[in-house]
Amino acid sequence: MRVVLRSAAAVLCLAWLAGPAVSAESSPSASSPTPTQLPRTVRPTSYDITIEPNAAALTFRGTVTISVDVLAPVESITLNAVDLKFTETRLTGSKGSGVSFEPKVTTDEAAQTATFAFGKSIPSGQYSLTLDYTGKIGTQATGLFAIDYDTASGRKRALYTQFEASDARRMIPSWDEPAHKATFALQAIVPREQMAVSNMPVAERSDVDGGRARVRFQKSPKMSTYLLFFGLGEFDRATARLGPTELGVVTQKGKADQAKFALDSSVRVLREYNDYFGTPYALPKLDNIASPGSSRFFSAMENWGAIYTFEYAILLDPSISTESDKQGAFGVAAHEIAHMWFGDLVTMRWWDDLWLNEGFASWMASRTTQRLYPQWNAILGTVSARDRAMDRDAIVTTHPIVQKIETVEQAAQAFDAISYQKGEAVIRMLEGYVGDEAWREGVRSYMKAHAYGNTASEDLWRAVETAAKQPITAIARDFTLQPGVPMIRVESATCQDGKTNLQLTQGEFSRDQPNKKPLAWRVPVTAKSLGAAAPAHQIVTGKATMAVPGCNPVVVNAGQSGYYRTLYAPAQFGQIAERFASLPAIDQLGILTDSWALGLAGQQSSPDVLKLALATPLTADPQVWGKIAAVLGSLNAYYDGLGEREARLRAFGVARLAPVLERIGWNAGAAELETVAILRAQLIDTLSDLGDSKVIAEARRRYAAGDEKPALRKTILGVVARHADTATWDRLHEAARKEKTPLVKDYLYNLLASTEDEALARRTLELALTDEPGSTNGPQMIAEVAKLHPDLAFDFAIANMDAVNERVDASSRSVYFPFLAGTSHEPTTPAKVEAYARARLAPSARRSAETTVANIKDRIRVRTERLRAIDEWLATKS
Ligand SMILES: [Zn+2]
Repeated sequence: MRVVLRSAAAVLCLAWLAGPAVSAESSPSASSPTPTQLPRTVRPTSYDITIEPNAAALTFRGTVTISVDVLAPVESITLNAVDLKFTETRLTGSKGSGVSFEPKVTTDEAAQTATFAFGKSIPSGQYSLTLDYTGKIGTQATGLFAIDYDTASGRKRALYTQFEASDARRMIPSWDEPAHKATFALQAIVPREQMAVSNMPVAERSDVDGGRARVRFQKSPKMSTYLLFFGLGEFDRATARLGPTELGVVTQKGKADQAKFALDSSVRVLREYNDYFGTPYALPKLDNIASPGSSRFFSAMENWGAIYTFEYAILLDPSISTESDKQGAFGVAAHEIAHMWFGDLVTMRWWDDLWLNEGFASWMASRTTQRLYPQWNAILGTVSARDRAMDRDAIVTTHPIVQKIETVEQAAQAFDAISYQKGEAVIRMLEGYVGDEAWREGVRSYMKAHAYGNTASEDLWRAVETAAKQPITAIARDFTLQPGVPMIRVESATCQDGKTNLQLTQGEFSRDQPNKKPLAWRVPVTAKSLGAAAPAHQIVTGKATMAVPGCNPVVVNAGQSGYYRTLYAPAQFGQIAERFASLPAIDQLGILTDSWALGLAGQQSSPDVLKLALATPLTADPQVWGKIAAVLGSLNAYYDGLGEREARLRAFGVARLAPVLERIGWNAGAAELETVAILRAQLIDTLSDLGDSKVIAEARRRYAAGDEKPALRKTILGVVARHADTATWDRLHEAARKEKTPLVKDYLYNLLASTEDEALARRTLELALTDEPGSTNGPQMIAEVAKLHPDLAFDFAIANMDAVNERVDASSRSVYFPFLAGTSHEPTTPAKVEAYARARLAPSARRSAETTVANIKDRIRVRTERLRAIDEWLATKS
């Protein structure tokens, strides 16, 4: 699954507070069943399913025959089911046995189970459990759901499914746990004029009465329930072929052209992965289904052979899509297709090891983007991804990568920056440690050994260790079983005999526990003297001396593949700052992100990051300038409402960024790099946030003149909307109302929510809960308002909780409400979030709320304790 990206200022994730951190030496994640898992006495082997949706009534009828092995005598069978009504049920013995039972059904809403009791003992053996039932079609992306959307030929309704983590049970009574793999044979009774899509190709389609058709899909291989997919609507499908595999994109009618880039990308990515994994793609076809709408939870889902992606993350609409959208579409394809192996072919045994899916897919996507589009320089993006993980990982409510998951809600909450970005960063570090060839050999043998099966993290470490012929398990456990961010402190550097001896201390980076006793990690450290031919490598724990060839200033974590922060003693930092312009871009980014984070945490002088911004030449890599713009944008938010102090920071920011924009200009140069196009949008955006009157005036001029080239249309609209007066806001609202393309319409409604003006923000909030913007759009609009008006948005959502809950899928609510308050710096806000959590969330579902509170307290601390030093430094510069 690809989770929705949230702003770095309010990374919202959830904390695990249920127990002490796992010791790095203790055994890996327990494989014993958790209290909410189903009994292990009965095992499904295949599902034979017929579904007949009634889209107009938002209901469906289902029949399923599940072949089960009863492993020990039982008096009842329990499986997962939510919101299903059983009309007829029976258990029959294997063919010819003549044994048949009609069980009594009871359901448990809280446990999300149905139990079939037989009133006597059923001997072990093979049986068929046949269930007739009815269920509901939702309007949020959970279970089987409907999305309504506008088209030029009127309003349409399409159906899709979303089952990860625990929602297959809303459409099929099932053993809805990843380790219960089985085959699925799906049939659907559908309106004759509509297209039905599932994981496997259609085996047979025949007309039945009432204008309907019966569609039977080929039987799937053994897979987990959460990967099953069904889609139905007025679709187009474009196809391509790679060897034995048919690739397709499925879109609403008339949009297949906009998915052409995604289709081409899928072919290139699949070719690359067939080669990398050594095991070819396992199914006869691979579709990517583009759907209108959105979810607060995810943007794409890796159903095996039938990836589901919201339109905004896959279609390129020539009227509005940007270079970032294009790179994003490729990234989504690369991430989701990696899951066809990591997740679908080989699946984590339980949600404790979710990171095996998500960390690996994220890593594979970055790696593959770098290989197939080297000019995009995706490797630089991995520094920002690592930074997002560290930001989350350095606050008291963090959790280890491998974590104990006991409830459905906790499983949903595990999709966070730790599973994705920390997982990715740790894999990159370990790959760097053993070498990419050995790593790939390990992955190949892991795939071969566990195809169609389930694993835990230790299985991967064993495979890589065998291939690399060197131990990695101890290091891997340090980074996956304990929470937190290691910090390598460079105490001193002395030159002797052509070598620099570094005195290093391994500590821990924390944003909110400055006196915390650091955990111990075995950290693979890479260090390189400027201009030296090769770096030095060493495992560092506690205190260490490291000899690095060469006598120039030394960059620790050279190449930035390590998951740790580097804190230089002032003398060493000074030397690096002096030579900053000559460093490789990736190290410039690493040092910028470390200085920024360490400065806010009070570990390093807070103006240091601004000194680096001054030392950065106009010709630096576009992504380095993008990072500096992001830092200045974040600082601007910290200075919110601080009058003259804010004005001085803004003036500094404009003085740094305006010349960079001037250099690259508003209009794309001939044959310019794609990364320059992305930087242009970032600069205009940040300069607008900083109140640069020239940029705001130019954006308004272009908007008024209708001079919005597609490449900058979103950017220009963004500036205009942020600084909108009532007349402008009304004009944007009218454009949103009239728009017939869902992708553009949703964008325009979100734009209304980005206004700085508080009165207009209030109007947006009221609008969000009407029927006008569409059922999945309201929560996005409220979240967009929250970026500039967190308290306004949070208070509004709490005051209208029932209406908001109708529009947010159930598994996202415990994340959604706290998220809204995330960028607040009001001292009264933490108590409001805590009150919400106490009143509305079970203790085990409060991680998001607790993390939000910790983040708000950190923002307040930064405002009171860190900005003074920046003020003083800025005063010397103006
Ligand atoms: Zn994923």
